[in-house]
Amino acid sequence: MPPTRLFYALWPAPALADTLATWATQARPHSQGRPMRTETLHMTLAFLGSVEKEIADELIDATPYHRLQPGTVTLDRYGVFTRPGILWAGPERTPDSLQASHDGLWLWLSAFGFVPPAQPFRPHVTLLRNIERNDPPADAPPPLTWHYDRMVLVASESTDGGSRYRVVARSKPQPG
Ligand code: ATP
Ligand code: MG
Repeated sequence: MPPTRLFYALWPAPALADTLATWATQARPHSQGRPMRTETLHMTLAFLGSVEKEIADELIDATPYHRLQPGTVTLDRYGVFTRPGILWAGPERTPDSLQASHDGLWLWLSAFGFVPPAQPFRPHVTLLRNIERNDPPADAPPPLTWHYDRMVLVASESTDGGSRYRVVARSKPQPG
């Protein structure tokens, strides 16, 4: 079996994704670029890259038992990553709880042989690809409050039409 490209992400509920799509629409006259499809909008917690089938299967089995501490992140600004040419929505400041969940996830992943990235965690939701400006729009829509209580493991599969995402496992929400 070929390796699978995997990542962990927070996936917004449909209503939140719809609102994020309006953020993309609002930024478009300024940034140009290509909007992500609404159902693909997400916040990556850990990008694993290409993973061998055996390890992928272990992750799929183990993911329900990695409990993510529930938390809240407020998306209140646009930003750009100029090299990949993307415009994103994100928090002005990374909440400690989200940073801790990110760090805890990577600690858990180290048992599977994964090494945390050297770069700091920059939580964001990619909204537009192939943007034509290096500056984000100055004004963002009203802040979006995102309550999350689980993460998903996603397989990113190359197709003729670009990458397609498939959720292959979910962490169980923390018991009340
Ligand atoms: P494509 O690369 O085919 O255009 P994509 O970027 O949507 O498609 P992936 O490259 O599989 O799909 O990435 C999946 C998710 O992981 C995206 O949110 C992407 O921004 C993020 N990601 C990709 N590479 C890295 C990386 N090296 N470090 C951190 N996050 C990454
Ligand atoms: Mg990519």
